Amino acid sequence: MSKLDLLKYGTLQDLHTHTAYCDGKHTPEEMVRAAIAKGLKRIGFSGHSPSPRGEDYAMKPEAIADYVATVRALAKKYEGRIEVLCGMEQDVYSPPAPKDLDYIIGSVHYIKVKDGYITVDYTADELRRGCLTYFDGDPYAMCEAYFAAYDELAKLKPDIVGHIDLITKFIEQDALFDPAHPRYLAAAFGAVDAMIPTGALFEINTGALSRGYRSTPYPAEPILTYIRSRGGKVLLTGDTHRAENLCYRFDEWSKLLY
Ligand SMILES: [Zn+2]
Ligand SMILES: [Zn+2]
Repeated sequence: MSKLDLLKYGTLQDLHTHTAYCDGKHTPEEMVRAAIAKGLKRIGFSGHSPSPRGEDYAMKPEAIADYVATVRALAKKYEGRIEVLCGMEQDVYSPPAPKDLDYIIGSVHYIKVKDGYITVDYTADELRRGCLTYFDGDPYAMCEAYFAAYDELAKLKPDIVGHIDLITKFIEQDALFDPAHPRYLAAAFGAVDAMIPTGALFEINTGALSRGYRSTPYPAEPILTYIRSRGGKVLLTGDTHRAENLCYRFDEWSKLLY
């Protein structure tokens, strides 16, 4: 568990950011400069942990030491102007994260199936084909498998739960399932229940808005309401892949924080 107060700067921080070390556009220093220009008090880097499928969007295992050293050097260089944290977006199926990070965002980007993985957030088509191939076309069985992975994620004790309903990324373009369906909601609430005892914060994540997939942040309103009812705490993150999108539409969505 992070020793830091990860809620400290409210909407004047973005702790979910990606750089050219993974699938982001800009260097860490370009991101820090953009954060200062925007008046932020803190930026946290959360490079993607190595993909269990070796995919290019994630950091390569051999790049991690350089990533950490680069971010630590920036923290020193910009000390007094902005706080710079080094974290990681740790996928549940990745190898363990380094121990010396400031915080971990725990995320589930895959559904584990008998001979590999379905990537949840790559394309609507992959998700639909995965549903047909591995779940007999029953999208709720697929959602149950996705949310069941949060039992595993809880064991990693992340500091922040990333985009808990990522499986709805394409739902506005391709209505593969109904996110109000009782089976869907029961599975999603089960994932919240799994994470609550860890004390992790839950993201309100605007990343899919900045990338044009969704019109509302993760998580959907019924899940957010359930998180609150269980005493979960939330924070806004941008899941930012470009410097200009830091804290994307936080002004508008900060209403969900209260
Ligand atoms: Zn993610
Ligand atoms: Zn991310």
